[in-house]
Amino acid sequence: MDVEAIVAGVLAGDRRAVARAISLVEDGRPELEALSAGIYPRTGRAATIGLTGAPGVGKSSLATELVRAEREGGRSVAVLAIDPTSPYTGGALLGDRVRMQEHATDPGVFIRSMATRGHLGGMALAAPEAVRVLDAAGYDEIVVETVGVGQAEVDVAAATDTAVVVLAPGMGDAVQMAKAGILEVADLFVVNKADRDGAGEVVRELRQMLHLGAARAWDPPVLQTSATEREGIGELLAAIAEHREHLRKSGELASKRRARLLREVESLAAERFRARAAAVLAADGALGGELEARRIDPYRAAAMLEHQTAAAPE
Ligand code: GDP
Repeated sequence: MDVEAIVAGVLAGDRRAVARAISLVEDGRPELEALSAGIYPRTGRAATIGLTGAPGVGKSSLATELVRAEREGGRSVAVLAIDPTSPYTGGALLGDRVRMQEHATDPGVFIRSMATRGHLGGMALAAPEAVRVLDAAGYDEIVVETVGVGQAEVDVAAATDTAVVVLAPGMGDAVQMAKAGILEVADLFVVNKADRDGAGEVVRELRQMLHLGAARAWDPPVLQTSATEREGIGELLAAIAEHREHLRKSGELASKRRARLLREVESLAAERFRARAAAVLAADGALGGELEARRIDPYRAAAMLEHQTAAAPE
């Protein structure tokens, strides 16, 4: 695979190159390092928005409306739909997302679903690199949509500038989300399906829970939308812009991004180490027997492995 050509294509905004680069990230191919080195200097410009919430609350409907609104404002948008569990990608997830089809032929819109097939660190590590590919390709806004509310989704949401948590009446309550730790990472709450009964109740419940939390520099607003009726989308866009302005003014944008990068580097290094440690272990036929015979204890074995791994050639 010609990584240089892919990098050049991504930087030129070529859609096929972008698609191939994201596949490369999904597969966790060795070329990933060259890809990262090639695109990284050209990243950092795009604004990223996370959309997280239980299946069925209307995330993809909202993403479609956000795309429309951004396009009306003249900005280009990429949507990355992330499914940490699905082995399918490149259309399987989006196949049934008929509403997205209206944007399919717009050159200012890129829509892609993504799963991890081989990336060592799983979705939490693959997603940021895929986002950087889209950033380097020149998209102004990148919407990262996740399918559920588990730990992986929380991690992915926390890796965006503005994390939007979506709820809907009758679709899993706020208590459940609090347990998953999603309330803490939310910069904005959206109660979608506001055209349905019970939306007001969800808003009240949510506000109550938020009041129990510690005071923060940014108080996450609770908005109501109806993606199908196209209501509240302008307000959502305005709230996202306001949050971004807050991040910029307070200096949090830079500190948040720096902390995020450092966390990512730590995880990448840990994954590399883990892979090498596994290789060293696999090559050492004696350790299992030593442990079993009680001649060596697990802690000492781990310390030895750490030394051996550090000394082992790549
Ligand atoms: P996702 O799984 O969170 O991405 O949810 P989808 O966007 O696929 O929406 C799930 C279902 O809810 C679909 O049948 C949508 O048409 C419907 N839906 C989405 N938004 C709204 C809304 O604002 N009001 C109503 N009544 N239905 C909606």
